[in-house]
Amino acid sequence: RGTTPVPPESRPRLTVLSGPSGVGKSTVVAHMRKEHPEVWLSVSATTRKPRPGEKHGVHYFFVSDEEMDKLIANGELLEWAEFAGNRYGTPRGAVMERLEAGEPVLLEIDLQGARQVRESMPEALLVFLAPPSWEELVRRLTGRGTEPPEVIERRLEAAKVELAAEPEFDVTLVNTSVEDVARELLALVDVV
Ligand code: 5GP
Repeated sequence: RGTTPVPPESRPRLTVLSGPSGVGKSTVVAHMRKEHPEVWLSVSATTRKPRPGEKHGVHYFFVSDEEMDKLIANGELLEWAEFAGNRYGTPRGAVMERLEAGEPVLLEIDLQGARQVRESMPEALLVFLAPPSWEELVRRLTGRGTEPPEVIERRLEAAKVELAAEPEFDVTLVNTSVEDVARELLALVDVV
């Protein structure tokens, strides 16, 4: 965006990766962190039940509805959103600590959350991960095999709306190859 090169010291330290459900955000982030474990990713709180293999404190903090109510009421979330029947939110404390230390922070969150970050932290870099095509997105959402059909249906509905949000973002990355996108994302996160 823009034509003026951004000097390194004023580059955004908060990068938000968002995009439709099923586009491959978490796969891209996982790939990047396998090569670059130093990239710090915020761990979200969620009321969703863990999928097989997901670990508390690693993939998410899995919390009850009551715990989520408290986190929200106490202002402990930087942003939060309801997505496909569950709530998700970014714990504020850990993110602010990293930013205050001048360390880059990466959030992988849904579109509603990205909009909230845009409002509260306008200096954040918002990155939209787009599918190569709608057909490919449907294929990925249908093929995950871990969700009941009505959940997939809800996610497809959400994805249609979410695709239209691309112009609100600073940068678009098209998820044609995980390796390529992970490399592009790494450059944007600006790890030194
Ligand atoms: P999933 O249930 O597939 O892990 O995540 C569903 C959606 O919630 C994804 O689009 C994911 O990026 C988003 N998400 C995960 N954590 C957060 C969060 O802390 N805040 C928001 N707003 N969305 C999140």
